[in-house]
Amino acid sequence: MDYDLLIRGGKIIDGSGLPGYLGDVGVKDGKVVELGRLNGSAGRTIDAAGLVVAPGFVDHHTHLDAQILWCPYGTSEPENGVTSVVMGNCGLALAPVEDGVEDAIVKSFVRVEAMPREALIEGVRWGWHSYGEYLDVLEGKVGINVGGLVGHIAVRQTVMGEDSVEREATPAEIERMQALVREAMEGGALGLSTNRNSRHYREDGKPVASRLATLDELFQLSDVLADLNSGVVETIVNLSDRENIAWYDQLARRTDRPVIWQSVLHRYASPDFWKIQLEAIEPTFRDGYRAFGLANTVPIYNRFNLNNAQVFDEWPTWKNLMFLPELVRKQAFADPETRGKLKAELAQPGYSTFHRRWDLIPVVEVAKPENERYLGKTIAELGQMRGQDPVDAMIDLSLDEDLKTTFLSANGGDPEAMGEIMRSPYVLIGVSDAGAHVQFNASFGYSTTLLGLHVRERGAMTLEQAIYKLTFQVASVYGLHDRGLLRPGYAADVVVFNPETVNAREWEWVQDYPANTKRLTQRADGIEYTIVNGTVIYEDGRLSGDLPGKVLRGSAYAGQRQPVLA
Ligand SMILES: [Zn+2]
Repeated sequence: MDYDLLIRGGKIIDGSGLPGYLGDVGVKDGKVVELGRLNGSAGRTIDAAGLVVAPGFVDHHTHLDAQILWCPYGTSEPENGVTSVVMGNCGLALAPVEDGVEDAIVKSFVRVEAMPREALIEGVRWGWHSYGEYLDVLEGKVGINVGGLVGHIAVRQTVMGEDSVEREATPAEIERMQALVREAMEGGALGLSTNRNSRHYREDGKPVASRLATLDELFQLSDVLADLNSGVVETIVNLSDRENIAWYDQLARRTDRPVIWQSVLHRYASPDFWKIQLEAIEPTFRDGYRAFGLANTVPIYNRFNLNNAQVFDEWPTWKNLMFLPELVRKQAFADPETRGKLKAELAQPGYSTFHRRWDLIPVVEVAKPENERYLGKTIAELGQMRGQDPVDAMIDLSLDEDLKTTFLSANGGDPEAMGEIMRSPYVLIGVSDAGAHVQFNASFGYSTTLLGLHVRERGAMTLEQAIYKLTFQVASVYGLHDRGLLRPGYAADVVVFNPETVNAREWEWVQDYPANTKRLTQRADGIEYTIVNGTVIYEDGRLSGDLPGKVLRGSAYAGQRQPVLA
């Protein structure tokens, strides 16, 4: 038998950005062995006529650290063509961990990533200490390839205990943290992640541990990566303004490692801000250093009603009112004087995170049948239909419906701007956040959204460019040197999809988390086959049950050092 698997007659788009070409892909022993017009015998042949054959996508921004322990495919990753994931982003990882520190780590995951506590308690069977030991637990038990970053929160919590959420570290503590980061990198971590987002708290209201770190502490931990010549430094802050971009630049220059920062988004509240960000990072790249911004293929969505909303927290009268008991709040909404104040606050000029673009916020749920005519109408249209000021219309309709009327605000999403951001060479695409915020949203389909919405429908870039962005670009930055391309010698991680139909589906509720908890997930149309290390794990809309995934270890791995290809 020449090949274990032969994928015949598809359009090969190999991840390099080069134009696609018609041909066959021959796979043997988990690797791509030959491409072109192939005539050998094969254990299995897949007819890919009319389909695109590409490297499997690398979802580098996930929080699957816990889910992967009970869900070996990280569903719905393979349904969206993903064959490799990186976990441990935003400072959050399940290792290193000292006995007794487990609950503090759970507290951070529960709040920052909005994971159900019961699911974590039941689903995470601790028993490891170092990062390498955590990765060892996954060996042989995963259906997709998994790698991870060591999280600053776990490192700090392990070294400093509860002091980690109270104060700066001493030089001796930083030294211990450096030792843990080194141990994690030598255990196979793909880098270090940190969290400096001032909105990120633990479940008990304390800031997550890494927020107490000085920049100097972060820089000293990153020095370990520089010293090992391995890994990325991944970061999250609230807003990547010039001040933050200055230290990304400093860190990239100091370590020569790729720095990843969040995020470059189009925001309606400051529509040109992304240009300022990309301009600010230009000199870093020009001088030969790397600090990639992260971009998503979908806007940040917020569902709200006047019973449960955080979007108005920026305005004092609104914020106070939203914390009042429901009955009192309704009276306040109805009171003309208070109403005047509420409207005046929303009319104030200046920057606000919530953009107040009433023409962009539709009604997505109504409580009364007679109000169904408002469904899908924006708050601005609501005002016109009712002959009212838009804010009055929003409040009055809500009062009429016991505050149950639900609205959907999307922060950003101008197609032109999104296209330009995603095309930037300084931007990595993909914030699936898979495994996180599981009861608020699901973005597993960032990849299929790129291919369907942005490439096919909007023409934002070529298919070749998009696939490069989903594969080779990411694999290169993360040091996954034998993945992300379809070339002889590379791992046979392959996705076969229909370019005419590929797209993400709507979110759906599933009840597959431990402790019977529910979560949102997102599947896709048009993904025909997902292949991991030469084994078909997804076809006909079903997962096979095979577990061919590998643990992806970084180049500093001191265990059985693997030969690095390419
Ligand atoms: Zn994240």
